[in-house]
Amino acid sequence: MKLILLGAPGAGKGTQAEVICDKLAIPAISTGNILREAMKNGTEMGRKAKSYIDSGALVPDDVIINIIKERLAADDCKNGFILDGVPRTVAQAEALEEMGVEIDKVVDIEVSDDTIVKRLSGRRVCSACGASYHTLYKPSALPDRCDRCNGQLIVRKDDEPATILERLRTYHELTEPLVDFYKERGKLVVVEGQEEVADTSRLLLEKLGV
Ligand code: AMP
Repeated sequence: MKLILLGAPGAGKGTQAEVICDKLAIPAISTGNILREAMKNGTEMGRKAKSYIDSGALVPDDVIINIIKERLAADDCKNGFILDGVPRTVAQAEALEEMGVEIDKVVDIEVSDDTIVKRLSGRRVCSACGASYHTLYKPSALPDRCDRCNGQLIVRKDDEPATILERLRTYHELTEPLVDFYKERGKLVVVEGQEEVADTSRLLLEKLGV
């Protein structure tokens, strides 16, 4: 199955992508993770992306389209994939169509802006392995330590309050039009994000019929 997860930053796309990935044994592809990895490794792409990411803006479409072209050509994508956080603009969605990628379903995880702000400000990520936690909803067993690898948990720079508001503004302006884009193509499935992650997962899997 070829899936896209849509939704505001902090709607829970990453967590749900992991759930579907486990269920269907297809890779979850996050352009955010690919870009953060590039920043960590100090590659040219990472250096280019950093100022956009740190300010809550979108990385230019040509950079993202190149990443996704390369990633989807890999062997593990043959039987399907989940795109998490991409496409984020109509130009990126059109580029996927031009590449001949046939998406089966697009899941829009709907969460109010107030909830997003609450969620993102409590988010913590492992500086070593990238695992995601939340001070309220998914705390680590030890404070500020990753359950998986004992790495240090940190606040992502783009989860700082002013940046969260900018990311939401960018989402409404540039990404939300994709809801209609995919509705017109008969691909859209809407899932109301629930308080409990497991409840959202259950609804999502039900709606996908898996
Ligand atoms: P994420 O982890 O998906 O929230 O992505 C973190 C940041 O990476 C975003 O705020 C953007 O600056 C950048 N980014 C990730 N995916 C994309 C994309 N598809 N298009 C443009 N920028 C992206």
